[in-house]
Amino acid sequence: MPIETKAYIEELYEKVEKRNPYEPEFQQAVKEFLYSLAPVLSKHPEYIEAAILERMVEPERLILFRVPWVDDQGKVHVNRGYRVQFNSALGPYKGGIRFHPSVNSSIIKFLGFEQIFKNALTGQPIGGGKGGSDFDPKGKSDGEIMRFVQSFMTELYRYLGPDVDVPAGDIGVGAKEVGYMFGQYKRIRGAYENGVLTGKGLTYGGSLGRKEATGYGTVYFVEEMLRSKDMSFEGRTVVVSGSGNVAIYAIEKAQEKGAKVVACSDSGGYIYDPEGIKLDTVKRLKEVEKKRISEYVKEHPQAQYHPGCSGIWSVPCHIALPCATQNEIDEASAKLLVANGLIALGEGANMPSTLEAMEVYLQSGILYGPAKAANAGGVAVSALEMAQNSMRYAWTFEEVDQKLQVIMKNIYENSMKASEEFGHPGNLVVGSNIAGFVKVADTMLAQGVV
Ligand code: NAP
Repeated sequence: MPIETKAYIEELYEKVEKRNPYEPEFQQAVKEFLYSLAPVLSKHPEYIEAAILERMVEPERLILFRVPWVDDQGKVHVNRGYRVQFNSALGPYKGGIRFHPSVNSSIIKFLGFEQIFKNALTGQPIGGGKGGSDFDPKGKSDGEIMRFVQSFMTELYRYLGPDVDVPAGDIGVGAKEVGYMFGQYKRIRGAYENGVLTGKGLTYGGSLGRKEATGYGTVYFVEEMLRSKDMSFEGRTVVVSGSGNVAIYAIEKAQEKGAKVVACSDSGGYIYDPEGIKLDTVKRLKEVEKKRISEYVKEHPQAQYHPGCSGIWSVPCHIALPCATQNEIDEASAKLLVANGLIALGEGANMPSTLEAMEVYLQSGILYGPAKAANAGGVAVSALEMAQNSMRYAWTFEEVDQKLQVIMKNIYENSMKASEEFGHPGNLVVGSNIAGFVKVADTMLAQGVV
């Protein structure tokens, strides 16, 4: 990398660190992104001159609010709500809402930052945002969840709108929570604006295929990577972390493609089933009964349960699909995966690999599909949901799935093309970051200093 570009990136990153202290996840996401842009910045000094990156790393706004609610015993609780509206160059802010006790401004900002470029990669007219709360839905009654969500939306609604900011689900937020959010938004606004949220139920504007989109999309993306080397999922051993929305549908599609998925997990530990995971059991336990994944072994005695999450990466596999949470694969786990014969890894979760783990994948030459590209299928179908809501029309599951496959193929091809054009052929980290960046940067240049 030319010395001036290197110095510019280092200086900018230093400023980001200083301006965002105690935000390690946000710093990590920015660092990974900035350094991969060196080839494009060397060729296009106009981005530096217009301070495009200085603007990109600063959210347009960060909204932080109090969320008081009353539990079933009449006790008052106070949580913290967040919405980061990061970048609206390409369209209304778009990005999910996460309910998890670990949520803080660092996590919301890292997710919102990555969302900008992921959304650009989908080719859809959507900007980048993200939100959430440190509320823990685990162990709460339906009534408690509804009262919490109503309080959350009572504050958030004023910043939303179908052409302003359109949230969806993420960890801890599924169709039920989105439904409560929509109900409260509708009640306060006094208007039926169902384009304000995606991931809705099918009876009020939800899209067929949205629930499956992130998991299926991740598998479609990995399939493209494998195809480039004349390989496929057929007969491959696969490990998927998590057992939530993304994981379940990644398992489903990988199995449909002929793979044997032998392990999955939750935040308590992982299961290993040498005969292949019985997805019906996982779906019932996690989607319906809301139980722990450890219960699986009671019904399938050939399977083993191991407490702790990181152990799942010691299970030998050809294809790994991390679909749980950020930084779930560190350097040691990445090395173990590669040593055990990994050929491809596709990130269904956001930033599941540490910077050191990413370096291991890139050095080892495995096929590596980074999150911004590999898990963009969810938000892509969310944008299709917005389109259907605008048209007051609904596509069939097959139509949505077909569009999703085309979008994932395009993301793969555009990322590959950028990796080649900028001198790092096959490096999809560089390729997807540059492809997403250029689209947003050119749009920002066109829109002036705003
Ligand atoms: P989810 O349905 O809530 O499932 C999350 C899964 O990850 C659960 O199995 C959960 O286990 C596990 N998990 C959560 N926090 C964990 C932790 N700290 N350590 C270990 N495991 C943990 O959420 P999701 O929608 O599938 O999201 C999973 C990942 O995909 C996240 O990184 C999310 O940002 C990303 N993503 C989601 C979408 C989407 O459309 N939903 C789109 C793009 C990216 P427990 O049940 O024990 O908590």
